[in-house]
Amino acid sequence: MPPRPRVARGARAGAEARAVRATVAAPLQLDGAREGVQHEARALGLSGWVRSADDGGLIVHAEGRPNAIDALIAFLTAGPAGAGGSGVEIEEVPLEGHEQFALRGVSAGVFVVKEHAASTHHFDMRLEVAGVMRSWALPKGPSLDPAIKRLAVEVPDHSIEQNEVEGPTGTGGVALWDRGLYEQGGRVAWPEALRRGHAVFVLHGEKLRGGFALQRTRAGAKPQWLLVKRRDEQARPASDVVAEQPASVLSGRTLEQVLVAARAPANGC
Ligand code: MN
Repeated sequence: MPPRPRVARGARAGAEARAVRATVAAPLQLDGAREGVQHEARALGLSGWVRSADDGGLIVHAEGRPNAIDALIAFLTAGPAGAGGSGVEIEEVPLEGHEQFALRGVSAGVFVVKEHAASTHHFDMRLEVAGVMRSWALPKGPSLDPAIKRLAVEVPDHSIEQNEVEGPTGTGGVALWDRGLYEQGGRVAWPEALRRGHAVFVLHGEKLRGGFALQRTRAGAKPQWLLVKRRDEQARPASDVVAEQPASVLSGRTLEQVLVAARAPANGC
């Protein structure tokens, strides 16, 4: 699917749309401040996102009608959610074409990566979306090298209850290779982003950290995607995390050791 023009996605805001990046200085009462900004921005018909800054303030990206941007700046200057912001810096930035006003830096749920020995050896990456684990089978597993694209074949949803299961199966076995929380990113809200075939997310795992993108390359009965590490502070060029960190995050054992341990009692009978 050809990439859509970035600016055209902001068409909801019209030809006169404007985008700003606002930094709201600490100290702020952060409880509810992000949600207050999101609520106000949505009420004004703006798109973009808000997240907490490392110093305890807020960072806001907003785009839309110029008078709505002005109204949001006035809201931020007065103090989001009545928190009394002590200084707002505004920078004009290019339109990015957001289709939602999102909270960034908040967990969307859990993710797991399981190493699975079946008729073929592969890794299963699963992201919690709307109460189920959306699942992809990766023949070579994930990579932290942004130069590497890994095939990810979409497979049926799994239940959350299966996430922590490790041990032998009928024809092989499974080990819990990584787990943690994740954030949904991108310009389009999930699960619509998945339906369109381009989903950006941030993993907070024990091995996999930072931004990733899933890009669908082939539709059909078994849709094919590519998983790519985004270039950020967690990227590890020229690394091979699957080879370097093989042990289960649940048992500390490799998949091979999990299978040997599972067979051992039976051998004694
Ligand atoms: Mn599998």
